[in-house]
Amino acid sequence: MRGTQSSSNIVHIVGGGLAGSESAWQIAEAGVCVVLHEMRPKRMTEAHRTDGLAELVCSNSFRSDDAANNAVGLLHAEMRRLGSLIMRCADVNQVPAGGALAVDREGFSSAVTRALIEHPLIDIRRDEVADLPPADWGNVIVATGPLTSAPLADTIRKLTDENALAFFDAIAPIVHRDTIDMNVAWFQSRYDKVGPGGTGADYINCPMTKEQYDAFVDALLQGEKIDFREWEISTPYFDGCLPIEVMAERGRETLRHGPMKPVGLTNPHDPTTKPYAIVQLRQDNKLGTLYNMVGFQTKLKYGAQQRIFRTIPGLEKAEFARLGGLHRNTFLNSPKLLDRQLRLHADPRLRFAGQMTGCEGYVESASIGLIAGLYAAADARGKQLSPPPATTALGSLLNHITGGHIETIEQGSRSFQPMNINFGLFPPLADLPTRKVDGTRLRGNEKTIARKQAISARALSDLDCWIADNLCIAAAA
Ligand SMILES: Cc1cc2nc3c(=O)[nH]c(=O)nc-3n(C[C@H](O)[C@H](O)[C@H](O)COP(=O)(O)OP(=O)(O)OC[C@H]3O[C@@H](n4cnc5c(N)ncnc54)[C@H](O)[C@@H]3O)c2cc1C
Repeated sequence: MRGTQSSSNIVHIVGGGLAGSESAWQIAEAGVCVVLHEMRPKRMTEAHRTDGLAELVCSNSFRSDDAANNAVGLLHAEMRRLGSLIMRCADVNQVPAGGALAVDREGFSSAVTRALIEHPLIDIRRDEVADLPPADWGNVIVATGPLTSAPLADTIRKLTDENALAFFDAIAPIVHRDTIDMNVAWFQSRYDKVGPGGTGADYINCPMTKEQYDAFVDALLQGEKIDFREWEISTPYFDGCLPIEVMAERGRETLRHGPMKPVGLTNPHDPTTKPYAIVQLRQDNKLGTLYNMVGFQTKLKYGAQQRIFRTIPGLEKAEFARLGGLHRNTFLNSPKLLDRQLRLHADPRLRFAGQMTGCEGYVESASIGLIAGLYAAADARGKQLSPPPATTALGSLLNHITGGHIETIEQGSRSFQPMNINFGLFPPLADLPTRKVDGTRLRGNEKTIARKQAISARALSDLDCWIADNLCIAAAA
């Protein structure tokens, strides 16, 4: 490292994955020295196969590259504007994949590794950080990902006073609120219970007849499921959550006595008919644009989930912001444990980035690495960086992680779950587009397309202003 800064100004990054690599690049490009600690190849994870930085452990896709119509495509565009190394290396290693950005995985990882090795302000050390970082590391980013090594996970668990850090996520599907048919469904809490922070009408309820319930249970039993990987078998279920198809296997009535019980609720569309079973959805973000399907964690394949869940009355046209799943993960209860700049309340010299913070996916992890890097660089330079606008993809994801999520109404269970970027995380538009450029009325799906495009245009314009106000000044100072 050829920097001239004192050790107190050096940023230490733990983990050279998608997030840590992007953080290192952003910090070094801001003129601050970085030490990047990566444990591979000395110690491997269960999924990584190489010693390359930013290794893609599974698919080689960064998903849609359509910035106007797709939230992850918009995140790509924002990251490119912010000089992202991950996006630059993805672009030069692109392979044909229709509208998606897919990469040659070895070429991509080699390009990231080379860029970081060649940067004069970055020192890469191949060591595992197994304990609390030493006291003289004053500015640290922990980006050790979903497969954080066990000793470090244990240290973080003790520091945060959490019961668990590595477990199976019990992820239930999340639905865009505006795709639920409220002529069929209705708002009501069981027994109209107000509870702490509730209104008595906090859930969306979807009613089922006996015939519909029987057909639903049959579909669950027959639906295609994903197998566990061998190393996943030894990881415990979080909160003892069982997948719905496993509950269905235990008896045809099990779901009706569990998450689908039809008690304490009256259907205002048909008050004299008692539903045989009810599916409930609970508000998932403060904006009220997303609702999760209560108790619907599942290992069904994505195609089967969409097909089966759209047979639920009221969800025939549901669009899913996230589908359900169960997989091993390591992530923090970020809204509780981190401040708005991703620093740990319990030890603010530690900042977290990547999937550990509760985002999901390569691109999202890298984007949170990017913003964590900008914050750490600003700290090292004694500057303040204002947060990216909530109207941008980066800002909306950061908001979800650090506080945008609402707490569960029931006591005891942890409700924060990792999330991909999606349009449901953005603040709604003040004025919804109603007409096309030629003045004719927008119809049906055209309205959804126009809404997404307006959100994207707003995001890029607001991001440009934020960059002009913050980063050019920081770079010039
Ligand atoms: C099995 C599996 C499959 C996945 N498939 C996909 C997919 O297809 N598409 C997708 O978008 N996302 C997928 N993900 C999610 C994906 O891994 C993450 O989104 C992304 O890689 C997270 O980036 P990260 O930087 O937070 O963590 P990682 O990219 O995992 O990087 C963390 C790094 O930290 C290192 N490390 C861990 N502990 C220590 C330590 N104590 N000291 C030093 N270094 C350490 C690791 O070796 C690793 O290099 C998958 C995850 C898993 C576990």
